Amino acid sequence: MIEFFSTIIEHFSDPRKRVFLGYLFLSIFIALFWLQKKKNLSFKNALIYIFNKRIIFSKSSQSDFKIFFINRIFLIFVSPLLITQLAIATIIYHYLHSISWLEFGMFVQTQKFVIVTTFTTFIFVLDDFSKFIIHRWMHQWPILWSLHKVHHSATTLTPLTIYRTHPLEGIIFTLRGSFTQGISISSFVFFFGNNVDLYTVIGVNVFVFSFNVAGANLRHSHIGIRYWRWLEYIIISPAQHQLHHSVAEKHYDKNFGATLAIWDWIFGSLNHSEDTDKLILGVTENEPLETHGLYNLYVIPLIDIFQIMSIKRNALFNYCGNKTKKQ
Ligand SMILES: [Zn+2]
Ligand SMILES: [Zn+2]
Repeated sequence: MIEFFSTIIEHFSDPRKRVFLGYLFLSIFIALFWLQKKKNLSFKNALIYIFNKRIIFSKSSQSDFKIFFINRIFLIFVSPLLITQLAIATIIYHYLHSISWLEFGMFVQTQKFVIVTTFTTFIFVLDDFSKFIIHRWMHQWPILWSLHKVHHSATTLTPLTIYRTHPLEGIIFTLRGSFTQGISISSFVFFFGNNVDLYTVIGVNVFVFSFNVAGANLRHSHIGIRYWRWLEYIIISPAQHQLHHSVAEKHYDKNFGATLAIWDWIFGSLNHSEDTDKLILGVTENEPLETHGLYNLYVIPLIDIFQIMSIKRNALFNYCGNKTKKQ
């Protein structure tokens, strides 16, 4: 119970977490500024717009809230069973030692600021790229889509929607984080020795910190901030992620990026922002209210996966059966 409460408090008090209160307050300031400048709203109306009761207390938002709490309990039990970044780092570190033509500390003479800059950038880029790739798979592979559909079933967006994920998707993303961290740390320590360090602000990678300070939380919100066209090739704007949640067919499989838009640009899935005022969010139009029920969010994805797997198994058996018959 104590662990549960401390993990909840940690999410809002730890700057390494997306919904750290400092980032949330800054997002409100950015939204206020944008609504006054771009939508010509008065300060009071901008505040009313931001704290729209129909969004904050919507059925969708209520289930975001429940999922956030339930998943924290789930992860308390499951996290100790998952392979850690330390274990991955150790395995890779030993593997690198076993390669005869590689020498420990090969580049240890490199200037410290070069090492720290490279490491800070590398870990950020690898982390972001792995999020992009897995997110793309989540949309492409039916089994993974069954899980990811939970995130997309949100019909209103609030910063807590980022935690609206099926717990199995949560596990996949936790493992992804362990792998990227483990790979980066072990390889850098192997090549650069003890000079490996991160540029951080209040303990957070400087790139991640900058992104969070710049209103990352607004991507899951109804504030459709758009960036300049050139910037949307590099960084995903809030409006671009909101398009990713749109039910419109033209927005399908667009903007998978977490922070950088470069990946979408390279892989041809970039969609520049549009006015999001009339955007309909969710998986399908006129989403039934039951979509937000816990049974639909936790159990139906598992049934879907089971069905997909049994269809595949039957198809395989039929294929093998036909082959045997032919022979
Ligand atoms: Zn998605
Ligand atoms: Zn999202």
